[in-house]
Amino acid sequence: MGRTVAVVGGGYGGAAVAKALDADADAGIEVVLVEPKDAFVHAAGSLRALVQPEWAENIFFPYDRLLARGRVVRGRAAGVDAGGVTLADGRRVEADYVVLATGSDYPFPAKADTDDAADALDQLRAAHKELSGAARVLITGAGPVGLELAGEIAAVWPGKRITVVDPAEEIMPSFTPELRAELHRQLDGLGVELRLGTALADPPPVPAGRADAFTVATTGGGEIGADIWFRCHGVRVNGGFLAGSLTPDAMTRQGQVRVTGTLQVRGYDNLYALGDLTDLAEAKMAGYAMKHAAVVAENVLAQVRGDRPGAVYRPSPVPSILLPLGPGGGVGQFPPESPGAAPALLPASTVAAYKGADLFVGRFAELFGTGTATATATEAGAATEAGTETEAGTA
Ligand SMILES: Cc1cc2nc3c(=O)[nH]c(=O)nc-3n(C[C@H](O)[C@H](O)[C@H](O)COP(=O)(O)OP(=O)(O)OC[C@H]3O[C@@H](n4cnc5c(N)ncnc54)[C@H](O)[C@@H]3O)c2cc1C
Repeated sequence: MGRTVAVVGGGYGGAAVAKALDADADAGIEVVLVEPKDAFVHAAGSLRALVQPEWAENIFFPYDRLLARGRVVRGRAAGVDAGGVTLADGRRVEADYVVLATGSDYPFPAKADTDDAADALDQLRAAHKELSGAARVLITGAGPVGLELAGEIAAVWPGKRITVVDPAEEIMPSFTPELRAELHRQLDGLGVELRLGTALADPPPVPAGRADAFTVATTGGGEIGADIWFRCHGVRVNGGFLAGSLTPDAMTRQGQVRVTGTLQVRGYDNLYALGDLTDLAEAKMAGYAMKHAAVVAENVLAQVRGDRPGAVYRPSPVPSILLPLGPGGGVGQFPPESPGAAPALLPASTVAAYKGADLFVGRFAELFGTGTATATATEAGAATEAGTETEAGTA
């Protein structure tokens, strides 16, 4: 058949779909993965990498053993059309099908602003040094990232005073009251102060991640003093480069790509999108991106065989999460086994055993061929929260 599939972005979803298509030897597809980074960064481990720099290398996985037949082109896509991908440096990847998987960026330490793993490691180690000497830590944003960071810091430095602020009145509003109550209980036990309904009047006067004592006013008239702060909100979708490529109808104002149930880009037959880049009505999570990857791989393979793409992705109506608070704590919620039943609250021991202990690093080592066994992308995807046998979601 001799078809080429260009996958743009080698994050959770892009790496998974590239591996799945590459693994199907009979289909005769050449996979070309376009990715600016020299290594996949397992973002779910980045907060632990900050507090345990000796462990930090575990979150980087080189791309060189991901594909058996296809190739990885290190570069940044600047445009896409029906015939392939144009890179920012002018190179061109001709392709019969294109999968858009450029995901999203997030402020450091959750994601780094560099494409070089060695630089990213240096940034984590430098921030760790700053954090080590800071007695008072301010975290802005009490979403899963902010709370997980608070838990990681408390686990390593129980003596630090950690304050998390958020303008919302409630944490994790889409989850059950039982999950919220358990989170509050564990955060109290760790000595983390949660200041909900609280916004900062201005950003702190020192850069995030740099140790330097400061005081900042809150909109309610109060003050917070800290020695270092981290920003844990402000996700940015990486869709800007598509503005001149796709029809306006194929994108939202926020730069997300509109997809159909088959995960084809709206209005295009040979263009797919997945993961955080899409306008799918669900939380943006790695586990979901890997589920999208399985659907996209099935549909591309169908098209290559001359069939209609028939696999349809349906977001789960019930949110799921595994939220570690350090290696031994955390909360989790999976959708109920039977429709209509209440979602189950997972105890800290289950969260720790399933995720908190190694943050899935072992599974990604297998996916990227740096571990002992080799799992396919979809197998590894099935092992993340969004793909357990209970249809569980992601953290
Ligand atoms: C701290 C933290 C912890 C998290 N923990 C979890 C968790 O435990 N479980 C979970 O399910 N989710 C978790 N998430 C969410 C998860 O990281 C995202 O949902 C996931 O990264 C989305 O995957 P993706 O494949 O859509 O894109 P991404 O993983 O964002 O990957 C996009 C890739 O595209 C590349 N790229 C960007 N622009 C271009 C371009 N122009 N050309 C080519 N390539 C480009 C990037 O370099 C990147 O490699 C966490 C997020 C954070 C920030």
